[in-house]
Amino acid sequence: MINLLNYQRILSELKPFNAQLVAVSKTKPVEAIKELQSHGQHVFGENYVQELLEKAMKVDGVEWHFIGHLQTNKVKNILPVTKLIHGVDSLKLLVEINKQAQKQNIMAHCLLQIYIATEDTKFGLSFEEADEFFNGSLLPDLKNITIKGFMGMASNTEDNDLIRTEFKTLRQFYDKHKSHGLDTLSMGMTSDYMIALNEGSTMIRIGSAIFGSRS
Ligand SMILES: *Cc1c(COP(=O)(O)O)cnc(C)c1O
Repeated sequence: MINLLNYQRILSELKPFNAQLVAVSKTKPVEAIKELQSHGQHVFGENYVQELLEKAMKVDGVEWHFIGHLQTNKVKNILPVTKLIHGVDSLKLLVEINKQAQKQNIMAHCLLQIYIATEDTKFGLSFEEADEFFNGSLLPDLKNITIKGFMGMASNTEDNDLIRTEFKTLRQFYDKHKSHGLDTLSMGMTSDYMIALNEGSTMIRIGSAIFGSRS
């Protein structure tokens, strides 16, 4: 059900970069998650709130990451089961996460999703918006949020130079703001993770190479 060879190859590729693997199990059954778990994987990423909640009830011992587009009305449900929210793509969402985290008396760990692709099909803050956020007055008010870093998705293209440039730009932006306590740069998926690692990713999100393609 899983591609163990690919999984082990990716783990060995990650090692020299000291990066972390999020196994993206969206649309895949809990049996596949448990199988990969039996080989030592404990960090899994999901894109859909309902699916994450159902899987979280069925599988123990997993560190769940939410990597999809999060609607504000779903925040309160996923907070209790989610270790890291990768796709925070608006300040409105961040404010809502803080509000719900406050109610639940927890700290919410978040990555700001930064828009780096040339397509306009992807969610995220612009570099300018993220700059303004760090320099602005909102951040100190978000007492129940820890911004751990950034997440970015490169253009969906065969042009590896373009992908490399996009990842490089995000890494530079991450270095610029690292002093805010950032330690996580989530970039790279099945098709582009080697480029991402070479450009300084600390966390890759791999689905199809491990679980097979999604129909
Ligand atoms: C689906 C998804 C992935 C994994 O994609 P693969 O190409 O299957 O590795 C990674 N990140 C996000 C945000 C996703 O939605």
